[in-house]
Amino acid sequence: MAEELNPFKIAQEQLDQAAQIMKLDRQAHAILREPKRQLTVTLPVKMRDGTTKTFTGFRVQYNDARGPAKGGIRFHPAETIDTVKALAAWMTWKCSLANIPFGGGKGGVICDPKKFNDVEMENLSRAYMRGIASIVGTNQDVPAPDVYTTPQIMAWMMDEYSRIVGHNDFGMITGKPVEIWGSEGRKDSTAMGGMFVMREAAKALKIDLKKAKIAVQGFGNAGMYAYTLSKSMFGSKVVAISDSAGGVYDPDGLDMKKLEEAKAKTGSVQGYQSKNAKKVSNEQLLELPVDILIPAAIENQVKKDNADRVKAKLLLELANGPVTPDATNILFEKGVVDLPDFLVNSGGVIGSYFEWTQNVSGYYWDTPRFDAELDKIITQSFRDTMATQKGYADKKQKISPRMAAYVIAVDRVARAMKARGWY
Ligand code: GLU
Repeated sequence: MAEELNPFKIAQEQLDQAAQIMKLDRQAHAILREPKRQLTVTLPVKMRDGTTKTFTGFRVQYNDARGPAKGGIRFHPAETIDTVKALAAWMTWKCSLANIPFGGGKGGVICDPKKFNDVEMENLSRAYMRGIASIVGTNQDVPAPDVYTTPQIMAWMMDEYSRIVGHNDFGMITGKPVEIWGSEGRKDSTAMGGMFVMREAAKALKIDLKKAKIAVQGFGNAGMYAYTLSKSMFGSKVVAISDSAGGVYDPDGLDMKKLEEAKAKTGSVQGYQSKNAKKVSNEQLLELPVDILIPAAIENQVKKDNADRVKAKLLLELANGPVTPDATNILFEKGVVDLPDFLVNSGGVIGSYFEWTQNVSGYYWDTPRFDAELDKIITQSFRDTMATQKGYADKKQKISPRMAAYVIAVDRVARAMKARGWY
């Protein structure tokens, strides 16, 4: 991995930049530059042929001054301790910006989940939970789904943990199936939150969402719902979408049924057929002539060498870390409004927060309440971010939306650490 793109170095650089802007206390800065705790586990897993394969897993608790560590688990072949550390740092800022009572954490297992059958997946999920059980829990660290992990996987993990502690503990993990007290609204809450941010940003930038053209990179949970919700909530035209194999572009807009057919028949949205549809690569998708660009896949997509070619006016980071620091600066100079991941995709963890409070209290809400509360929290985060950016602009200091969001988030965590006497 190129030095410039080591995600943990990026997370530290971003923090350093924010620390300078906000004149953060040095001692607080030193605590916040490193994770509080990192655990590496070796996982022997029984495979379908009777052999045992060994996998490596991680769980990082970055900071818990404001509440239990919170953050997803990724099953990915390219997982490293540094990606997990970076993502755990970003979770800390995400929960703080949303002003929900959690710190930040993240987990991962180095594996290729596409090669597993269900039994192997269950065995790996249970082995991972056994490996980390001693440091997680409702009041300590609450995992959730992330790249290539699902509600079913959360259910196995919750079951394994409950066996270990000897009683049911529904609040120890979120993103569960509704049968075991997950929330109906959680499955699309990352994208739904992104849509509320898009609505507010479009108002501020005077973009008419009914006429807007949107490109979405990614067809996982975040990308797929971003596609369906931008159509159903605002009537916007999604003209491009992609998956890991590549994407499709149709200036007239894409049709969900045809996308699903293409995915089922050819394994990729690239197989989409219509009069004006063209195949595009994941790189080309980022440079299409659209009003709004939504990277909703993985990190480091908009970089130094392609940022200048982004044509969208508004970029919504629905993935974690899709825009590198160099690219953030280029976009900022160019006048592209690039709203940071830990604001735009915070709907996922805000949804997890609702699931967790319901598990802890034992009182369950309906979906309209879930969506309305999500709107309230994420809209407030957007407004706080814009107000902080404006506050600095009034003092003649130009800072990006990302730095404005950082200043708010880091300040809250630093204040909590100060109140607790950590420095
Ligand atoms: N994996 C999601 C994220 O990166 C959700 C985390 C959670 O719900 O804890 O925000």
